[in-house]
Amino acid sequence: MDTLIVGAGFAGAVTARELAEAGERVLVVDKRPHVAGNAYDRLDAAGVLVHEYGPHIFHTNSESVFGWLSRFTTWRPYEHRVLAVPDASTGRAYPLPINRTTINSLYGLDLDEAGVAAFLERVREPREPIRTSEDVVLNSVGRDLCERFFRGYTRKQWGLDLSELAGGVAARIPTRTNDDDRYFSDRYQAMPAEGYTRLFERLLAHPNIEVRTGVEYAAVAGLDRRRTVFTGPIDEFYGRRFGALPYRSLRFEHEHLAGTTQLQPVGTVNYPNDHAWTRITEFKHLSGQQHAGSSVVREIPQDMDAPGAEPYYPIPNPANEALYKRYEALAEAETEVFFLGRLAQYRYYNMDQVVAAALALARRLTAQRRAQPAP
Ligand code: FAD
Ligand code: UDP
Repeated sequence: MDTLIVGAGFAGAVTARELAEAGERVLVVDKRPHVAGNAYDRLDAAGVLVHEYGPHIFHTNSESVFGWLSRFTTWRPYEHRVLAVPDASTGRAYPLPINRTTINSLYGLDLDEAGVAAFLERVREPREPIRTSEDVVLNSVGRDLCERFFRGYTRKQWGLDLSELAGGVAARIPTRTNDDDRYFSDRYQAMPAEGYTRLFERLLAHPNIEVRTGVEYAAVAGLDRRRTVFTGPIDEFYGRRFGALPYRSLRFEHEHLAGTTQLQPVGTVNYPNDHAWTRITEFKHLSGQQHAGSSVVREIPQDMDAPGAEPYYPIPNPANEALYKRYEALAEAETEVFFLGRLAQYRYYNMDQVVAAALALARRLTAQRRAQPAP
């Protein structure tokens, strides 16, 4: 084998394919019993396509990422929509990102676009500099909207106040003055027509790639090879020698609703201020599948010390970033080990960003290999 790849998510699988096509022999291991990492999907017992580790909606502005993945799947156009219910006792739901409809229906107004812009200008609390997620939200929509839609959700999701998180977290959610109620604004928004797992099966089907699932890195660490690409948590690789990098975990509560054709009008409904879960996603919206029943998942945030907790989110703030930098310095001193992906680079990456990073790494490695042929 030339390269050992630890992790069969987007980071590992895309790198494996590129190296294999460049003529390398690649072994991919994953400790889970399946490929596709957190994007793994499957039919549940009722036959509905569900995402095991929470809803994964593909969106990108990158023509090259979309084009590259299109070699392994056809697509179903899908624009994700989200409603938020700030007070579950009324059940009233409002579009998120906040847009003209949100403002008008929440406050009983009838503003046009310019009116919404003026409204936001009046209620916003200008902040300078903008560092934290609290700065981002107060600066764009002010206190009342912050308390209704952001503070409680963030506390639940991260176990932290908005002021304890880097601005980039809340900045994922734009504010709009028009009626656009799509969750994402990207140029390409689509779901793999036969699901992510099928996409990964095609991606990994190459004579130079061997995949072993249910295999921990430790079990193959001693195998002879020229290099390693590690896509698990970087602090774990280094035995947590500087202390554990904080990650946030989730528990996924899946449920099939026999006899309910549609539970909610959109793919995801957020509950910022009530319940243990942050959001409920109904999968048939994402897949377009026809079925007499419906399957949903509730995401319940938890700490890493919960039994069986897995790391899902790096927690972006200056202290954690500083700790990551210490691990990154170790990584940079390696000559035969490369760290890639959401856990290994401790970055709040979306899928398309991981694919772009994997393509870049693989091209760098194959260029290096061509420059230094094997002895
Ligand atoms: P992963 O998919 O986590 O893959 C890493 C793999 O490495 C895992 O399968 C793990 O089992 C394996 N591994 C780790 N350590 C070891 C070890 N020691 N030995 C063997 N194997 C190991 N992105 C979007 O673009 N759109 C979305 O809608 C979206 N929704 C999301 C919702 C949730 C709840 C979560 C958690 C993430 C979401 N993402 C979304 C982000 C997306 O999941 C990631 O960007 C992407 O999956 C990261 O790929 P990766 O390969 O870096 O990591
Ligand atoms: N957020 C919020 N209220 C919402 C939705 C999002 O406060 O109704 C904040 C929260 O801090 C969340 C972040 O915005 O973690 C990013 O949301 P996104 O939906 O992008 O998170 P992900 O899908 O990655 O979990």
